[in-house]
Amino acid sequence: MVALVGRPNVGKSTIFNALTRSRDALVHDEPGVTRDRNYGICRLDEDHPFALCDTGGMSGDEEGLAGATARQARSAVGEADLVLFVVDGREGPSALDENILHWLRKSGRRFFLVVNKTDGLEEQAVLGEFARFGVDRVIPVSAAHQRGIDDLLEQVIPELPAERDVEIVPDEPGRIRIAFLGRPNVGKSTLVNRLLGEERMIASDVPGTTRDSIAVDMERDGRPYKLIDTAGLRRRAKVEEAVEKFSVFKTLQAIENCQVAVVMLDAGEGVTEQDATVLGHVLNSGRALVIAVNKWDGQDKYTREQAVSMLERKLSFCEWAERVTISAKHGTGLKELFKAIHRAHASATHEFSTAETTKALQVAVESFPPPVVRGHVAKMKFAHPGGANPPTFIVHGNRLTSLTESYRRYLENFFRKRFKLVGTPIKFVFKEGD
Ligand code: GDP
Ligand code: GDP
Repeated sequence: MVALVGRPNVGKSTIFNALTRSRDALVHDEPGVTRDRNYGICRLDEDHPFALCDTGGMSGDEEGLAGATARQARSAVGEADLVLFVVDGREGPSALDENILHWLRKSGRRFFLVVNKTDGLEEQAVLGEFARFGVDRVIPVSAAHQRGIDDLLEQVIPELPAERDVEIVPDEPGRIRIAFLGRPNVGKSTLVNRLLGEERMIASDVPGTTRDSIAVDMERDGRPYKLIDTAGLRRRAKVEEAVEKFSVFKTLQAIENCQVAVVMLDAGEGVTEQDATVLGHVLNSGRALVIAVNKWDGQDKYTREQAVSMLERKLSFCEWAERVTISAKHGTGLKELFKAIHRAHASATHEFSTAETTKALQVAVESFPPPVVRGHVAKMKFAHPGGANPPTFIVHGNRLTSLTESYRRYLENFFRKRFKLVGTPIKFVFKEGD
């Protein structure tokens, strides 16, 4: 976990966005997806993903950094392995920067000084201005122009522990890793306890398993699964405590470790902002997704119809994800839920051949050729598989940058239909030349 700290307007969000942007535009800024502005995952170095937290600006009005923002910043800094203290190279050092510096020193955390907005400035002169801060590691960047970000990354990654909180759950072939996610009170514990209860194996009651164990094995209808850490795996605490403990970090960690994310919604409450945030994180990760609409038992015919049409509207940004209505309390809908999990998993991990992907590409292009854009037509030559989870297709050709967004979407839908892919995003990578 890396925390961004600094006064307002120095460019923390710009740095946050530069580090957490998804390189492949899996997620567009579609209405309905709330991007979490405070937590995200940096995957620019695929082998070393890390969590990033933007603490928000400290304005200095908080009486010696004691206000709510400061409290939030303090807890983020407390959780962080490394702090990036961001300052504005244009404005130079300010009194508020010095306050923050003093406070960071006292916190005892390791931190780097990131001097932003160095575009168009004489770098050495700017860095010289901050020399009196006496920070041993100073990194100039221009986040708005994506400059210095790679260098920043190169210096950050070696500082991070290989595995701390982010426990990696080992892969066991044949055992699908599922995470049940959702905001407090949607019914995660009820569902998980029911699933485990059926197998008489309640996590916390088995000697030797810790209450906080990150994953637990279960079987259902003779098939093995691994349930990944969620609040649901913990023994039920008081409701207030559960609300307080809703940790985005834990959710991100569970998403990292699962193959299929089951996001639970409450039928009576629709899609709340917090739900949309959780969904946004799953989409960002490229994981397979099933949406479980819980508490279906409590609904009459009218509210059910309402719920269905509202969900269709609000979830249009992930049409490909199957929705299953369940009642964790009564155990209904679970057969359907597990079928959907299997379909999503099968789609996400399917292995394709170059022959079939190239054929799919040809048929797609023949039935609907790419449009002429400013006198150019993209020429797509062949496609080959580029990995699973999510299924990735690499398309080679010429003038591919002229492919419009709507054509890319057409290709995606075409491949989805042709290969009957459900419950998983699909990724296309376009490569110029052969
Ligand atoms: P935050 O309040 O610290 O999160 O700051 P923001 O990321 O919102 O940035 C504040 C302002 O600085 C915005 O108008 C950005 O466009 C601008 N800004 C951010 N990074 C740079 C940069 O590298 N160079 C320049 N010139 N402006 C930047
Ligand atoms: P969590 O915070 O997501 O783990 O939610 P819980 O499993 O603790 O459930 C929150 C509340 O919703 C509890 O009072 C449950 O009894 C209730 N609940 C959970 N699932 C259902 C369901 O399918 N139907 C109804 N009517 N209530 C449910």
